[in-house]
Amino acid sequence: MLESLKKIFSGNEEEMPVNTGSKPDISREKSAELYAKSKTFFPGGVNSPVRAFKSVYGTPLFIQKGDGCMIWDADGNQFIDFCASWGPLILGHNNAKIREKVIEVMQNGMSFGAPTALENELAELIIKNNSFVEKIRFTSSGTEAVMSAIRLARGYTGKDKIIKFEGCYHGHSDSLLVKAGSGLVTFGETSSAGVPKSFAAETIVIALNDKEAITKAFEQFKDQVAAVIIEGIPANNGLLLQDKDYIEFLRATCTEHKALLIFDEVITGFRLGFEGAAAHYGIKPDIVTYGKIIGGGLPVGMYGASAEIMGHISPDGGVYQAGTLSGNPVAMAAGIATLTELLRSGFYKELNAKAQEFAESIQRFASAKNYKFKVFTIGSIFWFAFTDKDKIQTAEDIDPTSMEKFKIMHRELLNRGIYLGPSGYEVGFVSASHTKIELEKAKRAIFDALDLVFRKQ
Ligand SMILES: *Cc1c(COP(=O)(O)O)cnc(C)c1O
Repeated sequence: MLESLKKIFSGNEEEMPVNTGSKPDISREKSAELYAKSKTFFPGGVNSPVRAFKSVYGTPLFIQKGDGCMIWDADGNQFIDFCASWGPLILGHNNAKIREKVIEVMQNGMSFGAPTALENELAELIIKNNSFVEKIRFTSSGTEAVMSAIRLARGYTGKDKIIKFEGCYHGHSDSLLVKAGSGLVTFGETSSAGVPKSFAAETIVIALNDKEAITKAFEQFKDQVAAVIIEGIPANNGLLLQDKDYIEFLRATCTEHKALLIFDEVITGFRLGFEGAAAHYGIKPDIVTYGKIIGGGLPVGMYGASAEIMGHISPDGGVYQAGTLSGNPVAMAAGIATLTELLRSGFYKELNAKAQEFAESIQRFASAKNYKFKVFTIGSIFWFAFTDKDKIQTAEDIDPTSMEKFKIMHRELLNRGIYLGPSGYEVGFVSASHTKIELEKAKRAIFDALDLVFRKQ
């Protein structure tokens, strides 16, 4: 999603270069027609910028249906999908258990703006199986969850400034659409038109994996920092795997300065394991945010913390936060059906083993051929990087020119029936619905695409 911020104003629609690959380009006739029409309705023809294919070749594919790990576009092309709606679909498309639960609940009406037992049911599933939250609040998106978590941190600590990291995405609320200025510790600069400079001045942006920058920031803004927010595992600008030692340092520094540590687990929550990155590190954040998987494909977000901290949310406390459709019964139903599956014993072990085998065999292929290509991976998340670096831990470590190779790969993969998110900065997801057969097929397509990418150098 960060990538979309970089490309949002560029707006250049590049011509597809001549196809010199070994497969013809897929037909995009119907998609192109729909795109021409959608452009008359929506800016860039889309309702979320990265969907517009600005970072890869060709017009965006309009998706008609999905089933298991497969999707079909408007032209009838079929793909093995690794985008998974950007992460929510850990059980794959059109999962029967989710669909049936949603249909069952829908029979009774779709929204009341009053409490329902379904909210309790989903909350209980989460709180009983999560050692990091005692009380929670449901929202309708990840953005809302994070925005509310920030307000809660400010309300709770009585301080205004927040520290975020270059290379982490936290949704599109004003105080988080901020990027690093120059210098080690700086006020952020807005990364979107329309964000007041005065808002950006409350957000300090520093590089990941840099303890000195954290120390400096707390010295420079002594007693002013309400919270440090970091993605559980940064996965919106490549996959920037952090050392546990660094996260422990963040934890200790926040405690020392009475600032809250927020893990934004909108991607990693219920993905790395039921308890997300917090359990992966064994580190307790003060506030956690979830989204994506929690709604099983319907719009749900959540933030949670200790009962004491959550006691500051209205109507118990003075931090206001609300939502007409928060806790919507149909969305709760999808969440309940999804999380129930995730709690089955062995779910994550099996999924992660499958995904790791997939990532490792692609890495073995690339290494054997000496390709400058690395698969960074954790759990069922993977990221293809055109690099020879063994570690990429900061946004700066990513060479933007390497994205040219991703563009070629993306096109070649579409031509071979594989769908990745349309940007080289985005991670891919293996779901429980990817079978060994499909993963083998995907691997072979990836090997062919890599051979073509590196032939073209
Ligand atoms: C996707 C994402 C968000 C925003 O969630 P939306 O549902 O798109 O508003 C926030 N934080 C992280 C880490 C995300 O991956």
